[in-house]
Amino acid sequence: MSHVVKLLMKEFVTHDTMRFIVERPAGYRFDPGQATKVAIHTERWKDKKRPFTFTSLDDDGVLEFTIKRYPDHEGVTHAMHQLKSGAAWEIGAAWGTITYKKPGVFIAGGAGVTPFIAILRRLREDGALQGNRLIFSNKTARDVILEAEFREMLGDAFLPTLTRENAPPYRHGRIDEPFLRDTIESFTQPFYLCGPRGFVKDIRAILERLGAQPDALVLEE
Ligand SMILES: Cc1cc2nc3c(=O)[nH]c(=O)nc-3n(C[C@H](O)[C@H](O)[C@H](O)COP(=O)(O)OP(=O)(O)OC[C@H]3O[C@@H](n4cnc5c(N)ncnc54)[C@H](O)[C@@H]3O)c2cc1C
Repeated sequence: MSHVVKLLMKEFVTHDTMRFIVERPAGYRFDPGQATKVAIHTERWKDKKRPFTFTSLDDDGVLEFTIKRYPDHEGVTHAMHQLKSGAAWEIGAAWGTITYKKPGVFIAGGAGVTPFIAILRRLREDGALQGNRLIFSNKTARDVILEAEFREMLGDAFLPTLTRENAPPYRHGRIDEPFLRDTIESFTQPFYLCGPRGFVKDIRAILERLGAQPDALVLEE
């Protein structure tokens, strides 16, 4: 079942990432952490469906997406960033396996943080953020999506790390085994992972070596 919705507004959240607010079809439902296929509803783009994650609250009157643009070729994200309010999108049903279980450690790389935006905003609304942490890896400080909001929500439980810039007070380096061993006290809690395929694969292997049970790992299958 697909719906055609109107783009209501867009704005930058970092130099290459924008939030898009679109209409919410009557009765449309999703769980925080889920995604849908989106296409720009024009002759040129309507067959180019791409997955994006809802970052709005599940009970908001509109839908929000937070979308990073790949500028190196004229793909869908590049075209989305050029759209004006009033443009039409086609969205499908919600799907995805990243859902909140109980307090744990969220580990994201780049735009992979989007399912965690939705989950953490829901937890904030419910007064249930306590016990959750977010480790968020980016290339440079200017790539960190929604840094102020994460700091406000999580305080010291927000740990941004940078791989390509040494800019204290950010931690510099990849999320590796020594870092996770030193940072995390218990490996029996849930771990929520999202990011580029290689990032998820590497961190999953490290967590399993450190004692995390496979069924405590929440990721997109
Ligand atoms: C479940 C799921 C949820 C997602 N949610 C989000 C989200 O909420 N926000 C978000 O920003 N992203 C999200 N993504 C990623 C998003 O779907 C992709 O960024 C998007 O599909 C890219 O579409 P595109 O047409 O712009 O690029 P594509 O053409 O699909 O290319 C993607 C990548 O390939 C490279 N590439 C491909 N062709 C070329 C070429 N000819 N020349 C140079 N480079 C090339 C690009 O540099 C880019 O790295 C999600 C992905 C999944 C699987």
